[in-house]
Amino acid sequence: MTTDKHRRWVGYSAAGRHRITVVAVALLLGLARPTAAKVEVFACEPEWGALAQELGGDDVAVFTATTAEQDPHHVQARPRLIAKMRRADLLVCTGAELEVGWLPLLLRQGNNPHIQQGQPGYFLAADYVEMLEKPEHLDRAEGDVHPGGNPHIQTDPRNIAKVADAVADRLAALDPGRAEAYGDRHADFARRWQEALQRWQARAEPLRGTPIVVHHTSWVYLEHWLGLVRVASLEPKPGVPPSAAHLAEVLTGLAVHPARLVIRTPYADPRPSAWLAERASIPAVVLPFTVGGTPAATDLFTLFDDTLTRLLVAVARHESATGAGARAPAMIGAFTTGMGDGGCGVREWLAARQPANRSGLSILSPIPQSPIPIPPSPLRLASRRDAGSGACSGPEVAQ
Ligand SMILES: [Zn+2]
Repeated sequence: MTTDKHRRWVGYSAAGRHRITVVAVALLLGLARPTAAKVEVFACEPEWGALAQELGGDDVAVFTATTAEQDPHHVQARPRLIAKMRRADLLVCTGAELEVGWLPLLLRQGNNPHIQQGQPGYFLAADYVEMLEKPEHLDRAEGDVHPGGNPHIQTDPRNIAKVADAVADRLAALDPGRAEAYGDRHADFARRWQEALQRWQARAEPLRGTPIVVHHTSWVYLEHWLGLVRVASLEPKPGVPPSAAHLAEVLTGLAVHPARLVIRTPYADPRPSAWLAERASIPAVVLPFTVGGTPAATDLFTLFDDTLTRLLVAVARHESATGAGARAPAMIGAFTTGMGDGGCGVREWLAARQPANRSGLSILSPIPQSPIPIPPSPLRLASRRDAGSGACSGPEVAQ
C-alpha cells in the first residue's frame, strides 16, 4: 500500500479543499487507501504500543519494537525492525533521546518519508509532557544524561493522559475519515483513566515520603507523582553499571539515611539490588516499568495497578519485619547521595510541604505533614529556582 500512502500524505499536507481534490483524483486512479486499511503504527516501547491500540482499536495495526525485557536505551536495529518501519504510517516513540542509540539509524535505513522528523507521522511522547531533570549544562562525564530531561516519562499516569490526548489528535489528523472513531475511543479512555487515577492516588497515599534506592534513574516521574524520595542510585551515574565501590558507598550511606525499598526494571541486572537488599535488610522490588513488565501488567491500567500493589506489598512486608514505620530516614541529608542529576521533582514535592522554602530554597528536615516521622538531618540542602525560566538548580549541600 505504499502508493496509497503517498496519495494520502499529499492529501494531508495540502489545504482541505485540495485534499478533497487529491482524494477524488486518487479514487479515480484507483490509488486511494481502501477504507478497511488500517493505520500502521510503529511504537518504540510497549507503553506507546498499548496506548495506540487503546485509541486506535480496529482502525490501527500496531507493531511494538521492544519488549519490557529490553532496555529501551539499547536496542539493535535488526532487519525486522527496518522492514516494519518501512511500512509504518505513524511512529510513536518516547523521544528525549531515549532512543538516540538506535532510532535515527532505523529511520535512515527504513527510508520511509512519512515518519521522518517533522512529518505528521513522526510522534514523540516527550514533546507533550513536562520534563523533569533537565540538566543545567550537558556534561557526558555525568553519564547517560539527556539534554531534554529524564526520558522515562511513562511511570507517571498523568503523563500517559497527556500523551493520549496528542496521539488521538494525531490519529485523527492522519486518518480523517475515521476521526470520529478516534475521538470516541479517546473520550472513553480518558474517562476510564481519570477514574483509575483517583483510585491509584488514594491507594498510593501510604507511600508518600517513602525513601527508596533505585537501580537506574528510571523512576523520576513515579517518584514525582507518588512523593517517593530517592536516596541513592545503584548506578554511580545514569547508564554506568553499578560498581563494587559505589555499592559499598550506597550501603554505608543507608546506615545514616535508610531506605525502605530498592527498585529496578525487569531488564536491569538483579544482582546489585539483591546484594544491597540482603545487606541493608530491605526488599528488592521489580516494578513492571511498562506493559508486559510483569505477568499482571497486561495493559496500561494493570501496569499501574501492579506497580502500586508491588510497592505497597513490599513496604508492608518491610514494616512488619522491622517496625520501620517508626524508624524513619533522615531523608534530606540523603539527597547528597546518588542524585547527581538533580532530582528537581522530589525537591518540588518537598518545597510544596515547606512553603517557607518555596523560593531560593534551603530545605531542612524534619518535614511537616510527613506520614513518616523524620528525625532532623545534620545536612542542609540548598536549591535554587530560576525566577525567569522556573527551572530548579542544585542541590548544593551547605553543612
Ligand atoms: Zn534512562
